[in-house]
Amino acid sequence: MHLLREGQFSVAATFLSEMAEKKAAEKKQANTANATENAASILDIDEVPSGEVRKQFATMYYILHEMKENNNLLPAIQWARDNDEALASRGSNLEFELCRLQFVWLFHGAHEQQGPTPAGRQAALEYARREFHGFLPRYLREVQQLMGAMAFSPNLQDSPYRSIFNNPSAWSDVAHSFTREFCSLLGLSADSPLYIAATAGAIALPTLLKLQTIMKAKRTEWTTENELPVEIPLPPSYLFHSIFVCPVSKEQTTDENPPMMMPCGHVIAEESLKRLCKGSRFKCPYCPSESHPREARKVFL
Ligand SMILES: [Zn+2]
Repeated sequence: MHLLREGQFSVAATFLSEMAEKKAAEKKQANTANATENAASILDIDEVPSGEVRKQFATMYYILHEMKENNNLLPAIQWARDNDEALASRGSNLEFELCRLQFVWLFHGAHEQQGPTPAGRQAALEYARREFHGFLPRYLREVQQLMGAMAFSPNLQDSPYRSIFNNPSAWSDVAHSFTREFCSLLGLSADSPLYIAATAGAIALPTLLKLQTIMKAKRTEWTTENELPVEIPLPPSYLFHSIFVCPVSKEQTTDENPPMMMPCGHVIAEESLKRLCKGSRFKCPYCPSESHPREARKVFL
């Protein structure tokens, strides 16, 4: 699955065929020996992504290739239109983002790379006339900006619309939006989980090695399960949800021991709450308010 997501189709194909060979060999062995004993160890080929998923990722890479290598947004726009209902239900702006970039690209003289030309402006305006009316209910302001910018046409660089027409990251932004939306319609995150886990691990490694050295030198051991004695900072894109540490027990809350908010607004872990109240009214450890445990509400992070 990781290989498919990274666009390594031939490596994935080799991997799959070698797995199938291994499976066939093990099956043969299992048939000659005791069949039931080896059955559990055989890789289940059904867990491998189906041909349909493979086809989807091939489509995704074709569209990305056209976008990045040939500045051709049309396959992406077509895909967004074919999936407009699913995208709209996610509140996605993808189709408009793509069409706006197409407008800007046409305006700049398309593949001729000559900068703004009268012919480019004409092509962009024709494109807008043909394609933009469907966007008006939702993107009136953005469309007005594009049209307003035309008045500055020979000198957009000094206009308030500079950032729309000279955005160096426009193509990579739109490619990223496309990948994210495409994966989300397949029920997948934008990045491969294996890639995320391995990268986060590589970032954490120096801290963990240092920790190991210190523990060896001090002859101490860290035994708390599922928790590290030091914080390991990760870049913001690697933070997926907030965490809560109970101020009473100093433990991080979990699904089994969730954060609970008392009527006064203070939050502690459920286990701490149970210990404090013993089933009856109790005083909040952080303010003078008293409350009953049944008034506490679970906090979802
Ligand atoms: Zn309180």
